[in-house]
Amino acid sequence: MIPEFSIRLAKWHQVSGRHNLPWQGQGPYSTWISEIMLQQTQVQVVIPYYESFLVEFPNPTVLANSCLDQVLALWAGLGYYARARNLHEAAKQIREDHAGIVPDNLDDLMRLKGIGRSTAGAILSLGFKKSGVIQDGNVRRVLARLFLIDDDLSTSNSQRLLWNIAHQLAPNAGHDAAIHTQAMMDFGALLCTKHKPGCEKCLFRKECLANQSKRVSEIPTPKRAKRKELKQWIMLEVRNEKNRILLIKRPEKGIWGGLYAPPIGESLLTLGATIGIEEVLEASELTTLEHSFSHFSIQLLHFRLCAEPKTIPAGAFWAEIDTFQGGLPAPVKKLLKNEEKYS
Ligand code: SF4
Repeated sequence: MIPEFSIRLAKWHQVSGRHNLPWQGQGPYSTWISEIMLQQTQVQVVIPYYESFLVEFPNPTVLANSCLDQVLALWAGLGYYARARNLHEAAKQIREDHAGIVPDNLDDLMRLKGIGRSTAGAILSLGFKKSGVIQDGNVRRVLARLFLIDDDLSTSNSQRLLWNIAHQLAPNAGHDAAIHTQAMMDFGALLCTKHKPGCEKCLFRKECLANQSKRVSEIPTPKRAKRKELKQWIMLEVRNEKNRILLIKRPEKGIWGGLYAPPIGESLLTLGATIGIEEVLEASELTTLEHSFSHFSIQLLHFRLCAEPKTIPAGAFWAEIDTFQGGLPAPVKKLLKNEEKYS
């Protein structure tokens, strides 16, 4: 192991780390919310969402007692909506099983919906100042370079090895555990970056095996990129005489689960049948937007039709789009709010 690793890292962090993030030093609930928001999302994007979230839902009980619609409305635009649904579910677990207090041990934390080993480690170390280890993408990259792990980091062997090393490097508990976790994150985000890491000024440049063997740019080994499937979806914006738009709440599970959108499907005819409009083929095509999910991409074709169906399907309603308060998926919002551009 690298001598005095965590002490040297903490000194680096004191001078060069991040100290003013709004969730720092705010306790386990704040750590949990920020960690979930930060998954797949950049710090600068997260900050305003985090701040609004904490004002609206200042503790697990308020979050648990809120309706999912409120949570999704605040989450709209942040993407990966399963995270918001899981937060809401986990808050209810905390209310029922832990009297509204975030639990302070690994097993109970990992029983909460949406909390894996790394998030639990972050909550323990950053939130409770207890022993806890994280393993996000930044940390994995740092460890893979320091110890020259040149396998695919997603395999179970690599994972075991990485967790093992991470535990050996981390201090046991207390304030040091919190500093170590934050310092590991910052070191990966600010110095040992994916592209152009600052090896020449790195405090571990002499011990880093990837640096010694001049293989930094090869580590971590890139995963073979799978080609994403491209699907074509049609969004049918139906407007009535009062210029209101027909919205439907999407099923809780699946893409954009629990958010609101105009009818979306794979063909105009199917959509017409679903909402009881015969003249659906008269809809005009306005524009197309491409959007990528983790496993596939979509081409969202925006059609508009001015019509008033005799009956509207269960769960659908007419909404004034400019004043609508519910959560709309970001691409849908973009299309609906920019529609005058395409008129
Ligand atoms: S020497 Fe370079 S690759 Fe190694 S830990 Fe430091 S910044 Fe990362």
